[in-house]
Amino acid sequence: MIPIEIHMFPCLNDNYGFLVHDQESGFTAAVDTPEAETILAELSKKNWNLTHIFNTHHHADHAGGNIAIKEATECLIIGPRADASRIPGIDKLVGDGDEFLLGGHPVRIFDTPGHTRGHIIYYLPEDGVAFVGDTLFAMGCGRLFEGTPAQMWNSLQKLTQLPDDTEIYCAHEYTQANARFALSVEPGNQALIDRAREVDSLRARNEPTVPTTLGLEKATNPFLRPMSLEISTNVGLGGSGTEEVDLVEVFARTRALKDSF
Ligand code: ZN
Ligand code: FE
Repeated sequence: MIPIEIHMFPCLNDNYGFLVHDQESGFTAAVDTPEAETILAELSKKNWNLTHIFNTHHHADHAGGNIAIKEATECLIIGPRADASRIPGIDKLVGDGDEFLLGGHPVRIFDTPGHTRGHIIYYLPEDGVAFVGDTLFAMGCGRLFEGTPAQMWNSLQKLTQLPDDTEIYCAHEYTQANARFALSVEPGNQALIDRAREVDSLRARNEPTVPTTLGLEKATNPFLRPMSLEISTNVGLGGSGTEEVDLVEVFARTRALKDSF
């Protein structure tokens, strides 16, 4: 099987658009629709015909271009069953554990509520890539607009079960700001210090920091690291080493601190 081709480009202020193309079948999916005109222009640059939209969640910077793109391409819109009423033009409803094919490439769905109640991610196990929307970011995670810390922590736990070399395509370029926050709660993490420096030099050249890998996130992302004593201490929990720290509580406090950082 020829590996899936992924074409990534900036949209709006800090979103990324993604086109996922299977050479053999010609099937092409847009992961979310931040900006209809940009996505249609990138499709014609590539000379690809859009067959699918994969929506991660209902926010306008993810589903706002659905109708215009569907009218232009007659593509099929796939989105979260749990949020079908808020996904414009949705045709096919999917949820946790569902699997389907994009050409020859299996695509598996995970429900990841927290940022929104119906957020889903798209994982391509044979290609080792995951499109995670606003659930996980490089050194960050989505804000909890419609979910509890426990729900989001559970959603992130599903992601951490994937192989460490999984390429994580997040929907925003938030990395530099995320790194500054991460360093504030875990200043002694050498992997984080090194990565923050790399990110600064990438951004100075206006280069993307996406995709990341799951392994790198496990080493540097504070929202995947509530078991770090340095983090639990810095968020005001578990400094004594005598009591067992509640990971959800550490996660919740870290998320709350980031909200006002
Ligand atoms: Zn969002
Ligand atoms: Fe977003």
